[in-house]
Amino acid sequence: MFILSEDSQRTQGRDAQSSNIMAGKAVAESVRTTLGPRGMDKMLVDSGGDVVITNDGATILNKMDIEHPAAQMIVEVADSQEEEVGDGTTTAAVLAGNLLGEAEDLIEQDVHATTIVEGYHEAAEIALEAIAEQVDEADVDDEILQQVAESSMTGKGTGGLTATSLAETVVEAIRHVETDSGVARDNVTVHTQIGASSNATELVPGIIVDEEPVHDAMPAEVKDASIAILDVELDVRTGDVDAEYAIDSIDQLNAAIDAEEGELKGYAETVADSGADVVFTTEDVADRVATALANEGILVFEGLGDSDAREVASATGARRVGALEDLEDEDLGSADRIHTETFGDDDLAFVEGGAAAETVTVFVRGGTEHVVDELERAIEDALDVVATALESGEVVPGAGATEIAIADKIRQEAAGIEGRKQLAVTSFADAIDVVPRTLAANTGQDPIDALVDLRAAHESEGRAGLITSGDEVSIDDPFDNGVVDPADVKREAIESATEAATMIARIDDVIAAE
Ligand code: ADP
Ligand code: MG
Repeated sequence: MFILSEDSQRTQGRDAQSSNIMAGKAVAESVRTTLGPRGMDKMLVDSGGDVVITNDGATILNKMDIEHPAAQMIVEVADSQEEEVGDGTTTAAVLAGNLLGEAEDLIEQDVHATTIVEGYHEAAEIALEAIAEQVDEADVDDEILQQVAESSMTGKGTGGLTATSLAETVVEAIRHVETDSGVARDNVTVHTQIGASSNATELVPGIIVDEEPVHDAMPAEVKDASIAILDVELDVRTGDVDAEYAIDSIDQLNAAIDAEEGELKGYAETVADSGADVVFTTEDVADRVATALANEGILVFEGLGDSDAREVASATGARRVGALEDLEDEDLGSADRIHTETFGDDDLAFVEGGAAAETVTVFVRGGTEHVVDELERAIEDALDVVATALESGEVVPGAGATEIAIADKIRQEAAGIEGRKQLAVTSFADAIDVVPRTLAANTGQDPIDALVDLRAAHESEGRAGLITSGDEVSIDDPFDNGVVDPADVKREAIESATEAATMIARIDDVIAAE
């Protein structure tokens, strides 16, 4: 009896397991060389020829156009890592891949999938305890936050000097949006602009929109600005149909022109009367209206995108108005300063010190589009990790030290676990080892030697990482060297990698409809 259509494909048992595991491993393998401060970048070219150069795990996996369903689950590991904590995506993907690799060996030794799943979950619990033991006793202050930011940015093409000043900017931004109820991370935006060195990256106390004044004679700067946001076209009302006016005398013509002029002036006067000195409209502004508004000394931007309009509204407290006659004093927002500046071919409007929300923008500069794009990803990650570290107040040593401690604790506790599950627990520790091993390999060290040395140093000092500083690689205490990661980044990596690996390992039947 056939219950499946002729076209559907079915793989069962070991075949299904091993093909899923292989696919998952392959994906994780593809980001391995990007891990750590000496990680290499990948150049990804899409079918349209667009090029992205990046070191970011989640970005790479998402651009790779992966189809295999099990492989897709590893991409999801990176995605959820990115979403939850904003960093550690490569670590999580590499870990998931190696948990699968270890699972494959266990299956070959006739360890049942459910035993592997149980063992992995127990090991993950031990790992979380080990992370808690590694948490820094000291309070998370600005110095530590800067170290967190810098650790997350090393290897991201930011360069030495730049990384330090970028880290300062990132911490300043997050401190700015810190409230009693946590960090309002959404109030920090990143705006990229090509044309200067990345050292020129700075923090703007407000928001930036890609807009230029509608008229050259308008002021380039307005202080203590009152802002109106309109969804109104400022043009002479035209009929729905092409109307033809029969004008047969000069008087009639003049009257028609006067009427139009009056209407145009009326716009400018209505705006001026409302008290607004800066106007953002999502629609167009006719040249003659622009001239009249310029004469009133009002700064006007037209054709604003919907999201920009919302941003300006939320920063300044202005309410969007759909008809000019409805514009009232209470609809206006305010800001300390609005000014416009030209960068090469682009004009930008800076809205600083908005009255309604404490918003800040990291204004990212860089020589080329690829540089600013990668810098933007690095800064977004750094903003996320600093916010995470500040909110939880927990940081752990980076450079592989936390992973060495986790593997050590798991191996110790494995001794007390009975039966074949012990094998699975030990395998989990072996998979964790891949993080310091990969950091070693990517810095040109022998992975086995490095692992042995790290374990010995961990045994005697309690904390040992493979520190990269300039051209030097050494084994030392990461806290003494400012290599610090948020504890939540490590927790999330363990949890999401374990979840994906156990889910894939449990599958023994793949039924694919055509
Ligand atoms: P991920 O996508 O997992 O964040 P990264 O390429 O950003 O991958 O590498 C993160 C790892 O690099 C972390 O384990 C972190 O502790 C480590 N790391 C950061 N800076 C240094 C450094 N100076 N020396 C050694 N390891 C570092
Ligand atoms: Mg990172």
